[in-house]
Amino acid sequence: MKKVAVIGAGQMGSGIAQVVGQHGIDVLLSDIDLAVAEKAKQGIEKSLGKLVGRGKIDPDAAEAALARITPVADYAPMAEADLIIEAATEREEIKNRIFESAGKVLGPDAILASNTSSIPITRMANHSPDPARFIGLHFFNPVPIMGLIEVIPGLATAKDTVKRTRAFAEHLGKQVVMAEDEPGFVVNRILLPMINEAVFVLGQGTANIVDIDKGCRLGLNHPMGPLELADFVGLDTCLDIINVLYKTTRDTKYRPAPLLVKYVEAGWLGRKTGKGFYDYSGEEPVATR
Ligand code: NAD
Repeated sequence: MKKVAVIGAGQMGSGIAQVVGQHGIDVLLSDIDLAVAEKAKQGIEKSLGKLVGRGKIDPDAAEAALARITPVADYAPMAEADLIIEAATEREEIKNRIFESAGKVLGPDAILASNTSSIPITRMANHSPDPARFIGLHFFNPVPIMGLIEVIPGLATAKDTVKRTRAFAEHLGKQVVMAEDEPGFVVNRILLPMINEAVFVLGQGTANIVDIDKGCRLGLNHPMGPLELADFVGLDTCLDIINVLYKTTRDTKYRPAPLLVKYVEAGWLGRKTGKGFYDYSGEEPVATR
């Protein structure tokens, strides 16, 4: 692939654009307007700078990766892209509108992919011009660090689309797990009930935030506790995913923990807003409960 477009320049879209740029592919990056996409490019510059500082990549490679990323104001330039990756907010109505608009410029052989964490691929494919060229391409956060991508074909996805998408994921140096189009796919189907349960444990006063995370780090040998990880993912995104699992399966085991809803309603969305289960305004994160 020579050119990739990324729609949604938040934590994930920025990370995807960075990694694609680092692997020699030109990237068009868009968000709700040009200013947001340009700000995201500044964030990518900082992220690449950190990698240079830690000796992970050389300064020339960082500069070249950054030069490959072009913020754009609308979808018209994406007509030249071989692959368009949607990485906007985890709301089906937002994503469907994006597929309808981006679909108007999608090249005749190009693939339209969604980085959704949980929304059924087969259902969203109906909003694209060609469900045979629509697929789930689920990156993990932070994209430059995490080594996994889940590839999720929908019912109508063509074998050739799967083959080309998988080759692209491997070109980025990632390992691929193939998943059926079931709610939450593989990793989030397992992770989100764990995060949600940790919030129930917190809400019921069984233990405080620090001890819940410590218990899982030391007792389960996880590198991060579930509440730290929830802050990393974004509490709004966690709530959106658990709601998709709940509404799609109608299984009450996925009902969202009331305290998770409350944190989202407070606008405490985790690291991206400076406060979630932990407050990140000081040198060290401080638990909020
Ligand atoms: P985020 O809140 O950091 O970014 C979402 C971005 O989408 C924002 O910049 C927002 O302005 C933009 N956006 C909203 N509506 C848009 C529109 N109509 N057109 C273009 N851009 C629009 O969220 P995120 O964590 O980057 O998540 C994005 C997607 O990636 C979601 O589907 C999420 O489920 C998925 N995902 C998230 C993680 C994670 O750990 N955070 C991991 C894997 C996948």
